[in-house]
Amino acid sequence: MPGRQVYLDNSATTRPYPEVVQAVVEAMEVYYGNPSSLHKKGVEASRVLIQAREAVAASLGVGSGEIVFTGGGTEAINLALKGVLPGRRGRHVITTAVEHPAVLNTCEQLKAQGVEVTVLPVDGQGVLEPGQLQKALRDDTYLVSVMYVNNEVGAVQPLEEIAAVLADLRRGGRKLLWHVDAVQAYGKLSVRPRELGVDLLSVSAHKVHGPKGVGALYVASHTQLQPLLAGGGQEHGLRSGTENVPGIAGFGVAAAIIAREVKGVAGKIFSLKKRLVDGIMAAVPGAVLNGPACRQDNPRCAPQIANLSFPGLRGEILLHSLEERGIYVSTGSACASRKNPGSHVLKAMGATGELLEGALRFSLSPMTTVEEIDYTVEQTAAVVRELYALYN
Ligand code: PLP
Repeated sequence: MPGRQVYLDNSATTRPYPEVVQAVVEAMEVYYGNPSSLHKKGVEASRVLIQAREAVAASLGVGSGEIVFTGGGTEAINLALKGVLPGRRGRHVITTAVEHPAVLNTCEQLKAQGVEVTVLPVDGQGVLEPGQLQKALRDDTYLVSVMYVNNEVGAVQPLEEIAAVLADLRRGGRKLLWHVDAVQAYGKLSVRPRELGVDLLSVSAHKVHGPKGVGALYVASHTQLQPLLAGGGQEHGLRSGTENVPGIAGFGVAAAIIAREVKGVAGKIFSLKKRLVDGIMAAVPGAVLNGPACRQDNPRCAPQIANLSFPGLRGEILLHSLEERGIYVSTGSACASRKNPGSHVLKAMGATGELLEGALRFSLSPMTTVEEIDYTVEQTAAVVRELYALYN
């Protein structure tokens, strides 16, 4: 169908909701005051911030005083990991091999400052075995950072089991902080940091149909954090700089929508993902699903991300062939795809050779339709057949 556009790269970024666009425009046209100004225009702008903060806090079930707006998920993660100073607490951090580069590269910077970092392995599905965490914990571990949903293969980490491991230690009097990168879980799964005893949690607006360049860090009220930026002391002193009022306004609207809809979203998107995975596996002999088995009763399987390998073909070539048919997918995480030849996530899961080279990520959103999925299955099968005939 010429001219058809099917956007299945929602883990890279999402299309903003029309209500979000409207709120951003309104904030730029009407609420352009500086929220710190004392006059009416300032007060109006600060009201926009208050409303958005309440909406984001409500979407996470936390207090609005615990939300710090940042310039996106990456900044929220940097603030969390660098803002928790080691020193008196210890000098050992634990994370996993499948984290986003925002976590892994921040850990590299921590190492340069003398922090010791343990990077835990995952199983063949990309899932951390909580016993690995138990074994790695040391007396001087001061921070654990484990993501909620992996952005490349959609593995859902066992946060409840991790919470139980950490709760045991804390009951014994250990001061140990836990950061969760919930960027890909937010809006799809229930994200409730207080219920899990999470101290710091990062989210990003553009993954949930909000604007780019705005995110939030949940900082549990008991958590001591140092700011990264020196300046005017905005955001409870944790993120200086005049606030991005239009971006935050849009984020607030997106947060209110996802809070309303999150309960129904997972089931709807999962059934589309299953249709896509089953359809491709049936139509393309040899296709391999990377990551947790695609079953509704599998708690390790995220509803929106399907990563499939087509052995004998290169992911990049497949990507551009699908693009010619109006279908937008990714070879892995968007940030890594231009520079990085092989996904660190698939490698950590034990993938090698053709499975690494031939991987494609399809990521869905509440805007995805059955017709788009059926078109994608049909076109993927056709493209793979053509390419196999050409190259093999
Ligand atoms: N963490 C995960 C799991 C992500 O998928 C992303 C974005 O791809 C980020 C962090 C970074 O978020 P942002 O693009 O808002 O900086």
